[in-house]
Amino acid sequence: MSFVITTPLYYVNDKPHLGSVYTTIICDTIARYKRLMGKEVIFITGVDEHGLKIQRTAIEKGIEPKKHCDEISKIFFINWKNWNISFDKFIRTSSKHHELVVNEFYKRVKNSDDIYMGIQKGWYCVGCEEFKDNPENSATYKCPIHQKNLEWKNEENLFFKLSKYQKQIELLIKEPDFIEPIERRNEIINFVSKGLRDFSISRTNVSWGIPVPGHSNHTFYVWFDALLGYVSAISSNSTNQSLDKSINEGWPANIHLIGKDILRFHAVYWPAMLISAGMKIPNKVLGHGFLTREGQKMGKSLGNVLDPDLLLSKYGNDPVRWYLIKDITLGNDGDFQNRRFVDIINNDLANTIGNLLNRTTSMSRKWFDNKVPNIEKVSSENKLANHSKLAVQNYIDKFNIYKLDQAANEVLSLAINTNLYLNDNQPWLLIKDKSKLPLVKEMIYNVLESTRIIGLLLLPLLPELSSKINVQLGSTYQNDVPWEKQLRWGLLTINSNLPKPTPIINKLEYE
Ligand SMILES: [Zn+2]
Repeated sequence: MSFVITTPLYYVNDKPHLGSVYTTIICDTIARYKRLMGKEVIFITGVDEHGLKIQRTAIEKGIEPKKHCDEISKIFFINWKNWNISFDKFIRTSSKHHELVVNEFYKRVKNSDDIYMGIQKGWYCVGCEEFKDNPENSATYKCPIHQKNLEWKNEENLFFKLSKYQKQIELLIKEPDFIEPIERRNEIINFVSKGLRDFSISRTNVSWGIPVPGHSNHTFYVWFDALLGYVSAISSNSTNQSLDKSINEGWPANIHLIGKDILRFHAVYWPAMLISAGMKIPNKVLGHGFLTREGQKMGKSLGNVLDPDLLLSKYGNDPVRWYLIKDITLGNDGDFQNRRFVDIINNDLANTIGNLLNRTTSMSRKWFDNKVPNIEKVSSENKLANHSKLAVQNYIDKFNIYKLDQAANEVLSLAINTNLYLNDNQPWLLIKDKSKLPLVKEMIYNVLESTRIIGLLLLPLLPELSSKINVQLGSTYQNDVPWEKQLRWGLLTINSNLPKPTPIINKLEYE
């Protein structure tokens, strides 16, 4: 069975911002981990291209919506390549085969008698593509998120009978694994307890969308269309693409990783739509928090938006990944602080891990003819071997429950313990005493071996740094051997060559 993980399908209003980079990096880390653990992974990302907002943005630019979408979608695609994101599918909701899957899905929902024509009246935010509750309580008639005026709508729409699924959704969201973290689950339980209302799934007067079969002036509501991108993506590269093909080739998704602002769509509307179509529900919806900068909300009007392109070109992939994975607890809000970023990269990656690799390979090369020490026999009963076994176990336990920051900290702890082992034993003093040579050989072997395991553990987190570490040890990851096996103690080849050291990470300066 495949492991299916998805980022949200990003809205093509603008190029990717730091929040989208964050979500995508987290998904990438989980996808890489699952592949290393032997799973067949389908990692889906892509773009949500329809709707009134896109239509208007294109008009403002004086171009066709399709042209606008082509431009921005390309930027997203190239961006993820630049960030070394290992996605398997990149779905565009303006593609023909996606339209086909939407139509097939709609037919199923219609056959379940879950569609009817009604009148949709209410205050609408074009930015959110969502009707807003109780705007009469607000004196301004503005969207609290976008701070833009709401628009009054009164039109004939097709409706989906969400209310019919009240009981099933109540049961679903109570399941402990379905919505994480728990704070998010409680928000949804509270929302559902107020009673689910049917929602409209078509629009008139929006030409930039998928036409609803049998209703000439209606297009599908952008969310109804976009959520189905997760399904159509699965069969996007197949011949004879279809809904059935997507179902057979991987559905349901194991995880939808999303921002907390779109949780309601994923944890309530989407499962009900799937039940109606006779399809399986995703196993988990993981809502992450928002990112701020130096404690402040980022926004165009505030002029403090952090450009991820700039971060990438200035610092490279690994430092940004490390900060986002290790410093932010998945599910909580996070803050990007420049000084903190510099401190963390210097302490963790340059001083602790980089320095460990550097000093150890240097000693070994100097004392043992540019090689790993030639010891009699590898001992797996020593302090470092024990630290390493424990770190590997904890790391896997944490990763399996998506505590990525804690998994990252396990790697760091192992590096700290390895440095301590060196400092406690001081091989640079012992080497002066000829009789201590066997002991020094064993110590250096242990430290090199521990460093090899640190490098391998970094593989899903920091793929580029990981391979640099292992190249320096003359011991690279082997594709044909299970990763977990390679994490066992004692596999560094005795008396093998150690390449000339090159710096693996540069220290950063404060701005
Ligand atoms: Zn809004």
